[in-house]
Amino acid sequence: MKLIPDAEHDELVLTDRPLIVCDIDEVVLEFITPFQAFLVANGHELRATSFRLNGNVFSLADGSETPNAEVARLEEAFFAAQDAWQTPVPRAAESLERLARDADIVFLTAMPPRHRALRRGLLSKYGFDYPMIATEAAKGPAVSALHGERPQRLVFIDDIFINLNSVRSHVPQALLLNLIANDTFRALAPNPGDDVVLPSDWPHAEEVIRAHFAQAPD
Ligand SMILES: [Mg+2]
Repeated sequence: MKLIPDAEHDELVLTDRPLIVCDIDEVVLEFITPFQAFLVANGHELRATSFRLNGNVFSLADGSETPNAEVARLEEAFFAAQDAWQTPVPRAAESLERLARDADIVFLTAMPPRHRALRRGLLSKYGFDYPMIATEAAKGPAVSALHGERPQRLVFIDDIFINLNSVRSHVPQALLLNLIANDTFRALAPNPGDDVVLPSDWPHAEEVIRAHFAQAPD
């Protein structure tokens, strides 16, 4: 049975422990850094002048801006070859392994579901053996469908402002973490709001999550 509409997902069994819903690209797998290398290998470059892909990709041949449709095609090609390019974010696997002793962990990725099998293999190769939901629909409704009115503590981790916002509006009790692996893009990211924690790395994120779990119930 599909628990989450418009999504492909592994079997999801939640216990009565706290729940951590975690994005993948730029959070547990490097995205920006390998995508930059992929673009160069395909005759383009990403100039990190703002926190976005569209408008920041240029042809290496003539310096012209790469049209959005071509950026989308390149992103699709990157996802289709992700196992040759993407590597784990430093210390993500170790932090999640420790957190998994005390919490349920579910990956929620905005990647097109057709690349799910490839990604599943890549995640397992690096020790990320947690169930994954792949959907291009908004993340707030997906987290709400997963967690509902359960009383357990809930943590949501993502690099993208719009996803944090979506979860905030659908599941306001969630602790929101804005984790961005690439240093240049982290410096360019929009302010996600005072209620969002911006960890500098995974050990910092782990510390914040542990402190949240240790708090007395509201
Ligand atoms: Mg991401």
